[in-house]
Amino acid sequence: MTMTSIYDWNLAQLQDIVENLGFKKYNGEQILRWLYQSRVDSFDEMSNLSLLLRETLKKSFQMQLPKILQKQKSSDGTIKFLLELEDQRCVETVIMRYVYGNAVCVSSQVGCNMGCSFCASGLLKKVRDLKVHEMIGQVLIAQKELDQTNERVSHIVVMGIGEPFDNYENVMNFIYILNEAKGLAIGARHISVSTSGIIPKIKAFANEKLQINLAISLHAPNDTIRNQIMKVNHTYPMQALKETLIEYEQKTNRRVTFEYLLLDGINDSSEHAHELANYLRGTCCYVNLIPYNAVNENIYRRSSEKNINNFYDILKKEKINVTIRREFGNDIDAACGQLRAKSEGKS
Ligand code: SAH
Ligand code: SF4
Repeated sequence: MTMTSIYDWNLAQLQDIVENLGFKKYNGEQILRWLYQSRVDSFDEMSNLSLLLRETLKKSFQMQLPKILQKQKSSDGTIKFLLELEDQRCVETVIMRYVYGNAVCVSSQVGCNMGCSFCASGLLKKVRDLKVHEMIGQVLIAQKELDQTNERVSHIVVMGIGEPFDNYENVMNFIYILNEAKGLAIGARHISVSTSGIIPKIKAFANEKLQINLAISLHAPNDTIRNQIMKVNHTYPMQALKETLIEYEQKTNRRVTFEYLLLDGINDSSEHAHELANYLRGTCCYVNLIPYNAVNENIYRRSSEKNINNFYDILKKEKINVTIRREFGNDIDAACGQLRAKSEGKS
């Protein structure tokens, strides 16, 4: 039988756990600090806990982190991990360096069921959702790497393998743990979740207490193209998505980011740019244009530099807030899901 992990719980839950085991509530906070501030590897190192509590915890919880199968470092500082979970399944985690800090890109599922035709993660169907401690484990592995240079994980993006809103509860519990002031203390405004557009979960997300950033993978200017490349659009088409996002912005006072992957000859013409600008009117959004990382299995290719710049210029003229995403780790397997697909014999 696998034990539950000590990394599955937020502060209030840890306090309940120790109380139920017959110990003091404040022990919960001590444990949280050991796990996320001192980042110890064993219960034995939690030296301000009684021996009895340490032994009790050992019997009740495991504190295993995922195993690092591969670590690739890019010349630009990007570090990509291929991690093995308890059932030998693999996911990827990436550390990206920005001027404002270090962001960790976290996977939320083993594979993905959304089946977007351009995506390496969707090549392998979802095997299962990640548990809370498996997402925490990714962040701790990244933080331990950065500990070597006295740096800290300052930002989290849930943009690795998987659809976070298809694993909503675990992803939200994970985020609440990251945010614990006595733990890693990563501010909600430094945490972003990206979704392919699952409307009921966007509505739920609007009601969360934390000010977490929301990004939407749009990738198309109209339903015809979006239906072709993103199956999810058949269930949640663009007009309904837009209405939901306007509601979200009104309710939360937060601005949504739209991600738009530029695919050569598919969605990158001048007409598409104007059509996109029209679609976005009425939202106070921000657009992130993403140069495509080719995946061997499929027919899609990256847009030319000229088309990318042209698309950008048109959106600017249309008064849309737009940026072109910087690329990371071009000399390593950069596209999310590539490393894992490779390790399992695809891509
Ligand atoms: N499932 C979520 C989050 C993970 S994907 C989502 O789709 O939003 C994170 C982002 O990477 C998405 O915008 C996705 O469309 C994009 N992406 C997928 N494959 C890519 C590739 N080969 N090159 C560049 N971006 C890609
Ligand atoms: Fe899943 Fe996102 Fe890839 Fe689509 S783009 S298959 S939702 S990981």
